[in-house]
Amino acid sequence: MAIDSFYPPQRILMGPGPSDVSPRVLAAMARPTLGHLDPLFVGMMDEVKELLKYAFQTKNELTMPVSAPGSAGMETCFVNLVEPGDKVIVCQNGVFGGRMKENVERCGGTAVMMQDDWGRMVDPQKLEDALKANHDAKIAAFVHAETSTGAMSDAKTLVEIAHKHDCLTIVDAVTSLAGSPLKVDEWNIDAIYSGTQKCLSCTPGLSPVSFSERALDKVRNRKSKVQSWFMDLNLVMAYWGGSSKRAYHHTAPVNALYGLHESLVILQQEGLENSWARHRKNHFALRAGFEAMGLQFIVPEAERLPQLNAVSIPEGVDDAAVRAALLNDYQLEIGAGLGVMAGKVWRVGLMGHASNTRNILLCLGALDDVLGRMNAPIQRGVAVAAAQKVLTA
Ligand SMILES: *Cc1c(COP(=O)(O)O)cnc(C)c1O
Repeated sequence: MAIDSFYPPQRILMGPGPSDVSPRVLAAMARPTLGHLDPLFVGMMDEVKELLKYAFQTKNELTMPVSAPGSAGMETCFVNLVEPGDKVIVCQNGVFGGRMKENVERCGGTAVMMQDDWGRMVDPQKLEDALKANHDAKIAAFVHAETSTGAMSDAKTLVEIAHKHDCLTIVDAVTSLAGSPLKVDEWNIDAIYSGTQKCLSCTPGLSPVSFSERALDKVRNRKSKVQSWFMDLNLVMAYWGGSSKRAYHHTAPVNALYGLHESLVILQQEGLENSWARHRKNHFALRAGFEAMGLQFIVPEAERLPQLNAVSIPEGVDDAAVRAALLNDYQLEIGAGLGVMAGKVWRVGLMGHASNTRNILLCLGALDDVLGRMNAPIQRGVAVAAAQKVLTA
């Protein structure tokens, strides 16, 4: 049997990621592959680091993309900072906090879980209490933007509390980077990881990370070797590190990095603050549409993430049938609920390149049609106008 080339259709990605990739990024990725130690490529790697420092708002020398998806950025933070026997406070308010626990335990550490309701922000008081009860804790970890529920936590305050108790911080910014205010240096974040496929408008598969000097001190002074050879920062730094000559560690994903470079150039051209403002404004427009049609947000207003809108599925509506109709009839992908939210919510992403007027109006019009055909209990014919009112205000 001859297998033919694969030609994917042009979908519109409004789920929890990957989100729509900018055509400029896709074009950049199709440019000629260079050797990974070619001086021109090494120069581009340096630019990627500079551009990432801007995106993270940091001067951290160790700011670079891990050659693997967000989960590998998460793992890079944990395997380097958690030594066997270390106690780590993990704040969990959704799926991704649970993965942090897995990481701590696989590093030989002890995870002290601090649970918050799914759909709510991490409660700073609970972190304070947990740190008071665990004087020997070394690290506090939390998710800034919980993509599984659409809740945003107050990273600045959580880091302040952790530092008051002499803990380093590990912050998951996979969905917040470029979508919501995030200031690594001003907020004194010690170790942070993100992903390229959410608000950076890039393809999946890379994980920008940044480590403060304080975090690197801990890595340099470990008593035991980092158990992952691939993610050991002591080795990775010789490849991605300073200006001196690069030692081969692994072959960088050359063309994927062209894509990240382009996406970061786009971010710089738009301006970081403008990108945050666009995500916010578009969220308000989508929200007006959802609320006009009668869909309810699951996260309280003050704790909502503009780039991930989680709404309850109306009574009696077949979740999978709606998402299939959106995909087949409108080429539109929205996200299903994850974990305990499965079957209860839809997660509608407005991330990066996908956070635009066309997508908002298409999504509202398509849902109006699909839910209407299924006789769902919604207000028909009002959502698009409600969103337009916000967009043109
Ligand atoms: C998507 C996501 C991840 C995982 O990233 P992958 O690229 O899928 O490995 C981790 N944390 C959060 C909050 C995410 O949204």
